[in-house]
Amino acid sequence: MEGGDVSLFQISIKKKMAERKKRIVTGDRPTGRLHIGHYFGSLKKRVEMQNSGEYDPYILIADVQALTDNFNNPDKVRKNVREVVMDYLSVGIDPKKSTIYIQSMIPEVAELTVFYSNLVTIARLQRNPTVKTEITQKKELFGESVTYGFLGYPVSQAADITALAGEFVPVGEDQQPLIEQCKEIVRKFNSIYGEVLVEPEIVLSEGKRIKGLDGNEKMGKSLGNAIYLSDTPEEISKKVMSAVTDPARIKKDDPGHPDVCMVAYYHKLFQEDQYEQVCKECKAGSRGCVACKKELAQVITDYLAPMRKIRAYYEERPEEVDKILIEGTKKAQETAKEVMKQVKKAMKLDYFSDEIK
Ligand code: SF4
Repeated sequence: MEGGDVSLFQISIKKKMAERKKRIVTGDRPTGRLHIGHYFGSLKKRVEMQNSGEYDPYILIADVQALTDNFNNPDKVRKNVREVVMDYLSVGIDPKKSTIYIQSMIPEVAELTVFYSNLVTIARLQRNPTVKTEITQKKELFGESVTYGFLGYPVSQAADITALAGEFVPVGEDQQPLIEQCKEIVRKFNSIYGEVLVEPEIVLSEGKRIKGLDGNEKMGKSLGNAIYLSDTPEEISKKVMSAVTDPARIKKDDPGHPDVCMVAYYHKLFQEDQYEQVCKECKAGSRGCVACKKELAQVITDYLAPMRKIRAYYEERPEEVDKILIEGTKKAQETAKEVMKQVKKAMKLDYFSDEIK
């Protein structure tokens, strides 16, 4: 392979990038249905970016990554692939504007992961703040000894992004170190093998981190404190009625403290224009907690109603969901194949490329 080929590829990639919409790579692990924390944290922004017409979003269903800490439960991962796609569709992800695809069906990602693993030290992975935090959180699963796959997931994430020539990666602050690691890998690869890979930019998500119904700083599937986008009105009502309120308020006319009440917090999230009034009545002791919760449950139910309607449509038509995944995955495969061709050329691994496809 001639060095000139790689430069030409880089010029052609840059030309294509200048001509086309900005490519975003993002996604979720299929480990459960998505909740309002996902919605306000990232999905809402994704829909806005998709509809702005400036971006070309690729959204991966990260099943391989889900297996890094669910390797002993493949059924859970498999079952949730379709669930996550239906949640995407319900919030307004449009398969005509966004490419939704399955990570494990892009074999180039696995290949790139192997190639990149030579460019990262174990010490560097162990120092990654996001990985460090997650290992601590998963002590129950890993004990004192984390798996090679989990420690290395930032490497496979770098492969996810670069296989699709992703230029922008929207992430929350806590995920930023993962993308920094991806950028390091890209720079190292390009410095050794030639300028082949696209170095992505971090787009810091403006999304909010949503607290759980129990007051926990994080809403999470495993924490049991989430309202799911697909929850029924009855489920929403049951959950809201159990939300943590002001513990100092015993009687209905006791003056309340909305700043420590999760119900007030959700009022602000779902109906900001009413928040002041809610606080005023709460502090004056003229608002009862039961009525306050019932009102909130109704507001959330109404807010999520259009999403539930779209979801119900797709639940009845799983073949349409599969078609979206098939089309998206085929498109992502084509992009990844093109990138891999150039990667292999650059790494002098392009044996018999004319004879063996
Ligand atoms: Fe919370 Fe509403 Fe009760 Fe005030 S009245 S403590 S805001 S639930």
